[in-house]
Amino acid sequence: MTAAIIDGVAIARDLLAGLKPRVAALAAAGVRPGLAVILAGDNPASEVYVRAKTRACADVGVHSVEHRFNAGCSAREVIGLIEKLNADAAISGILVQLPLPSQIDTELVLQSVDPRKDVDGFNWNNLGAMVAGHPRFMPCTPLGVMAMLDHEKIDVQGCNAVVIGRSVSVGKSMAMMLIERGATVTVCHSKTRELGEFTSRADLVVVAAGRPGLINGSMLKTGAVVIDVGINRLADGKLVGDVDFASASRVASRITPVPGGVGRMTVAMLIANTVASAERSSVK
Ligand code: NAP
Repeated sequence: MTAAIIDGVAIARDLLAGLKPRVAALAAAGVRPGLAVILAGDNPASEVYVRAKTRACADVGVHSVEHRFNAGCSAREVIGLIEKLNADAAISGILVQLPLPSQIDTELVLQSVDPRKDVDGFNWNNLGAMVAGHPRFMPCTPLGVMAMLDHEKIDVQGCNAVVIGRSVSVGKSMAMMLIERGATVTVCHSKTRELGEFTSRADLVVVAAGRPGLINGSMLKTGAVVIDVGINRLADGKLVGDVDFASASRVASRITPVPGGVGRMTVAMLIANTVASAERSSVK
């Protein structure tokens, strides 16, 4: 078997194109969605992500503003800015690019974002709403995975899904979204014994561990759908996921590549959340 590749670049492009008429309708009503991006320190990967996000905003007609802090900044300074952005009617979404410098209490900063502008979906209000089955903003990476599955017409109801990783931003939220759609979900993590015993029974495997080569073809069921969320930079500069693509694609039915898979979807969902926020706030 050779797996079909799920093309995140093309799916994200379609999704962003689908936002343009909504942005035009908002413009006709005098509303322009605005995304504020907060970047602290000088993490090179963060710079790349922020560039991709502001470029996608420009493509769709969403206004974006970058706010930069030096690496020695304090939580108080960042929160001071967030409070101003919370009150700014021109801003529909606030994105705090992670990681923040180590002296900053990340949760304190994230929880200061107004839940109505929390387009990353990390505010406990929004996470709680998702767990309760009444989602508003949901974390963009797992949301992007769901959009990919929908685009590929992969119905997860009744399937055995394994999620590897239990971070709030990816693994746990992914599990919640899959449960909500009727999948039977197992969440594996670094303490899981015999990871392969779980993955080899799964119809769907979503890997978000940040460990290159963690999953290979011998650990997969024939015909499984494999979604590789991992992004790892190897010593030679090459970007790879958590899945050994060559061996996995001989066993899986469908697989996402890295790069060109989930990463683009994350950006698209962020912009979609920002447009949705502007739509909600424009309804009087
Ligand atoms: P994270 O917070 O570091 O979480 C990693 C998770 O993987 C943890 O739950 C950890 O388990 C688990 N894990 C680590 N080693 C493992 C192993 N050997 N076996 C099984 N589980 C293991 O990372 P994250 O933010 O969730 O991100 C995960 C990966 O996705 C990273 O490569 C990141 O760069 C990538 N990512 C990509 C996108 C995108 O848009 N494509 C977005 C976000 C993240 P414990 O909890 O037990 O430590």
